[in-house]
Amino acid sequence: MILYNTLGGVKQEFVPHEEGKVRMYTCGPTVYHYAHIGNLRTYIMEDVLEKYLRYAGYDVLRVMNITDVGHLSSDADTGEDKMLAGAKREHKTVLEIADYYTKAFFSDAEKLNIKKPDVIEPATHCIPEFIEMVQTLIDKGYAYLAGGNVYFDTSKLDNYYVFGNMNEDELQVGVREDVGEDTNKLNKNDFVLWFTQSKFEDQALKWESPWGLGYPGWHIECSAISIKHAGEYLDIHCGGVDNAFPHHTNEIAQSEAYLGHKWCSYWFHVLHLLDKRGKMSKSKGGFLTVSLLEEKGYDPLAYRFFCLQSHYRKPLVFSFENLDNCVQAYNKLIARVANLKADGEPDLEAAKKYQDSFKEALDNDLNTSLAVTVLYDVLKSNLSDATKRYLLDDFDSVLSLDLRLKSEQKVRTASRKKTFYPDSQSMFLQDKGLERDYVDRMIAERAEAKASKNWNEADRIRDELKEQGIILKDTKDGTVWEFEY
Ligand code: AMP
Ligand code: ZN
Repeated sequence: MILYNTLGGVKQEFVPHEEGKVRMYTCGPTVYHYAHIGNLRTYIMEDVLEKYLRYAGYDVLRVMNITDVGHLSSDADTGEDKMLAGAKREHKTVLEIADYYTKAFFSDAEKLNIKKPDVIEPATHCIPEFIEMVQTLIDKGYAYLAGGNVYFDTSKLDNYYVFGNMNEDELQVGVREDVGEDTNKLNKNDFVLWFTQSKFEDQALKWESPWGLGYPGWHIECSAISIKHAGEYLDIHCGGVDNAFPHHTNEIAQSEAYLGHKWCSYWFHVLHLLDKRGKMSKSKGGFLTVSLLEEKGYDPLAYRFFCLQSHYRKPLVFSFENLDNCVQAYNKLIARVANLKADGEPDLEAAKKYQDSFKEALDNDLNTSLAVTVLYDVLKSNLSDATKRYLLDDFDSVLSLDLRLKSEQKVRTASRKKTFYPDSQSMFLQDKGLERDYVDRMIAERAEAKASKNWNEADRIRDELKEQGIILKDTKDGTVWEFEY
């Protein structure tokens, strides 16, 4: 397989460190809000890469972190912790927010047929590993203490800007103008490995460390979690292109300083999903989620199809018009698959030519749109229906468009439209399989019971809700509710 490697900026033959085995690491979501469909573009393309490597016969180990601490509102280590900001926004604790949005992320991923990685590790579970790594970096002379924090000293490296084809100014995407420079840093690009001092004193989660009570920097999380599970030699590290600098650059700096040798061979970066305002981003707000697409009546897999139609190294412009075109094409594709008959055995010999073309497309730097074209070629061909069905299943093990499943559903029933609600309370009810107005009805019944002085019944209703994690609060403006985990 030929892959474009951001490290070096060229297409290269993919050769894993250990024959037949691929160790892959993915930067996981920062779970302070729903993932938007831009984040999910990245995860869809990484999913195709993983599935294709498996299809090509590799034994793949894929590791992903969950960023539940340490990612500040500026990627350059200043600003408020994103998790804390999320908790404040929703009047919940940081752990509640992390738990809720982690579940929401995997629920969205499942709807998009994104496979769960083999290892999923929340950063808050790895504090001893982070501390060990930071201590080793200090011992080796790569890190220093200043103003209570531990910093990585980038001046100790011969080549800090490993992704040489990148322009530092353009890449300062995470650095917001309203957050000041950190004067503790010896060099502009030094970054925090461990914080004990933050401008924001109310940081929710802190742990004991040799440098005082504090919390890890964002970059150290990915290095330590990757090394913990995937070992000292990583084959592919994935992420959205905004992570290349400073996040991935810093990961390389600290991992290689810690290990004393080259760490990761291939860097796979997915370009951004853009909307009218530019890069879709959580912090800007107004972003699109899978639930919102569903609420508007879109099948999430139509969005997956939309992503597969363009190359991962090109920015992708989202508009509902573009998505509508894709929905039409997707539905037509399903209709064509639905017309195929189950007519005997597939002709494996004849199928091979198409499998080779499919592989050729994906072997060429994961050209998914060409792979989809091969799928159309199969449908247009004069192969038997059984052979076509065989090939569709084969290709769908990588593309994951559920073509056969959808076509069978189409034959059985008209599509059922689900209603999803984007706010967290509704998502909670949905998770529990409860109707959206369930709590409102119970609150109304309780109010009636109270009005007729039936206190036992009022208490019974409150207790019944409590058992389901729904807590009622009587306020001067009436009864409101919160959920607990
Ligand atoms: P976050 O949850 O912010 O840590 O981001 C999760 C993943 O989504 C990272 O790999 C980001 O690089 C990626 N990402 C963020 N915004 C976009 C976007 N607009 N398009 C594609 N990928 C994105
Ligand atoms: Zn990362």
